[in-house]
Amino acid sequence: MATLEIRDLHVTVEVENGTKEILKGVDLTVKQGETHAIMGPNGSGKSTLAYSIAGHPKYTITQGTVTLDGEDVLAMEVDERARAGMFLAMQYPVEVPGVSVSNFLRTSATAIRGEAPKLRTWVKEVKSAMEQLQMDPAFAERNVNEGFSGGEKKRHEILQMELLKPKIAILDETDSGLDVDALRTVSDGVNRVRETGEVGTLLITHYTRILRYIKPDFVHVFAGGKIVESGGPELADTLEAEGYEKYTKGGAAV
Ligand code: ADP
Ligand code: MG
Ligand code: MG
Repeated sequence: MATLEIRDLHVTVEVENGTKEILKGVDLTVKQGETHAIMGPNGSGKSTLAYSIAGHPKYTITQGTVTLDGEDVLAMEVDERARAGMFLAMQYPVEVPGVSVSNFLRTSATAIRGEAPKLRTWVKEVKSAMEQLQMDPAFAERNVNEGFSGGEKKRHEILQMELLKPKIAILDETDSGLDVDALRTVSDGVNRVRETGEVGTLLITHYTRILRYIKPDFVHVFAGGKIVESGGPELADTLEAEGYEKYTKGGAAV
């Protein structure tokens, strides 16, 4: 079983007037088969955590470790992280002009699997995954994220997750901007992958709404650049009732 271990992670970014520490000692272990929800106020550093694990060049790790089965993730190039089985669905997916969804998916799958997927089964796999996510087949020929609606971008992220079958998936606010029907479709997609038992999911969210559809095993409250409380699913109910106020008082937000 693959295990992602984050230990005492500190991360800084360059801002106008110097360097700002955003992550201030994050500790978290995510195992294949588990679902962890990370919930926290806006600006607390949740996306920074996702980007830092994925290897975004803007974020500098100043302290701590991230390992996947003991391998140093932080020493890996971004593409090596993907090949090792890590996947990030971004809060704000980026456009890839001139590259169709279909080509993008096949290229990604080829890179990750180490060989091109057999064309016939691949086409079927993509078609069926798109159907389940209620995506129009014509979508496959559109350029990645170009002119996509918020809901289409999120479906496309989950389509990638379904096809690339990561060991560890980080979903950064996959629920934001979705109406109830789209939220259900996207959650169903995540649950299909989860039910294989082969993915460890880190579900980052600001709202408890998605947790009605995707049931986490663990809930962590993130505030001021670190995890300040951990518990089971009942912690999400407390947050729903009480909000984040008690965690942000006294300037805990970044
Ligand atoms: P969240 O996802 O929890 O809303 P973020 O990780 O996006 O929080 O941001 C946390 C803090 O770090 C914010 O104050 C944000 O402005 C700052 N920050 C994040 N990324 C950058 C960046 N690339 N450059 C400058 N500041 C950043
Ligand atoms: Mg944040
Ligand atoms: Mg964010």
